[in-house]
Amino acid sequence: MSNSCIICNQSNALPLYPGIVKCSDCSYIYADLDMSQEEFEKLYTSGYFNGEEYSDYLADKEITQINFNARLSTLNKFVNKDQHKKLLEIGCAYGLFLDCARNNFQEVTGVDVTPEGVEYAKNTLSLDAYKVDLEKWDFKGQKFDVACMWDTIEHLKRPDIYIKKISENLNDNGLVAITTGDIESFVAKFRKNKWRLIHPPTHAHYFSIESLSKLLENNGLKVIHSEHCGFYRSIENIAYNIFVLRLKQKWIYKTLKFLGLTKINLYMNLYDIMYLVAQKVPEADTHKS
Ligand SMILES: [Zn+2]
Repeated sequence: MSNSCIICNQSNALPLYPGIVKCSDCSYIYADLDMSQEEFEKLYTSGYFNGEEYSDYLADKEITQINFNARLSTLNKFVNKDQHKKLLEIGCAYGLFLDCARNNFQEVTGVDVTPEGVEYAKNTLSLDAYKVDLEKWDFKGQKFDVACMWDTIEHLKRPDIYIKKISENLNDNGLVAITTGDIESFVAKFRKNKWRLIHPPTHAHYFSIESLSKLLENNGLKVIHSEHCGFYRSIENIAYNIFVLRLKQKWIYKTLKFLGLTKINLYMNLYDIMYLVAQKVPEADTHKS
């Protein structure tokens, strides 16, 4: 028996792939999980960032920040400097995005459930970061102007509760920026359960532009932008994965490195990662319509 659908609240989901179900009413796709919040948080200990999901998160800091700066420049198209001053990142990990964003905003704050990440953000990068689940975080009346979730929403147990809480603690006309895989993309549909982003239990939710827009709009957030964004990857990282880890031919990797070819960064866009920006509709406007 699966949990009810977070988009339409119905409980008529049917199996789609092993461990993954699809809502018969609204087509929303999610993992069929039966885990407590504590079990869920345990997935994100240091092993997750060192070998399990990421080979070595901090070793790729430079390329990760190139990607974050690209996301920041898209977000900046919608930012009004006089209005959007305080930014909150949910799922800040080691604070590498906040480190880029602090040049653009007056105040930046991050929350994450991973203790090692938050320690690094606080102590090494001197950022305002908290090791807490947003669901339990006491905002103490403070509101934000921008909330970001980069490749985080798919990891949450209850994205609907997060989005509701974010919306409640956002100033009028505040922005929400989200990236996540697009289950309706060509690559996802073609690859089916072999799509690189299908991996329960860490990926528990599989949105499309339509279902994510619906979730945002259910919470007073109007979608003002959507696109499929690409990312930069270092040839070093790609070559290491192929020649060392997969083919066990370290000499090819070493030769490429010797020739200096691994220093190049490659831009890739498979059109299966979506980037949505939504804006909080002021209360007065919602009553009018
Ligand atoms: Zn549904």
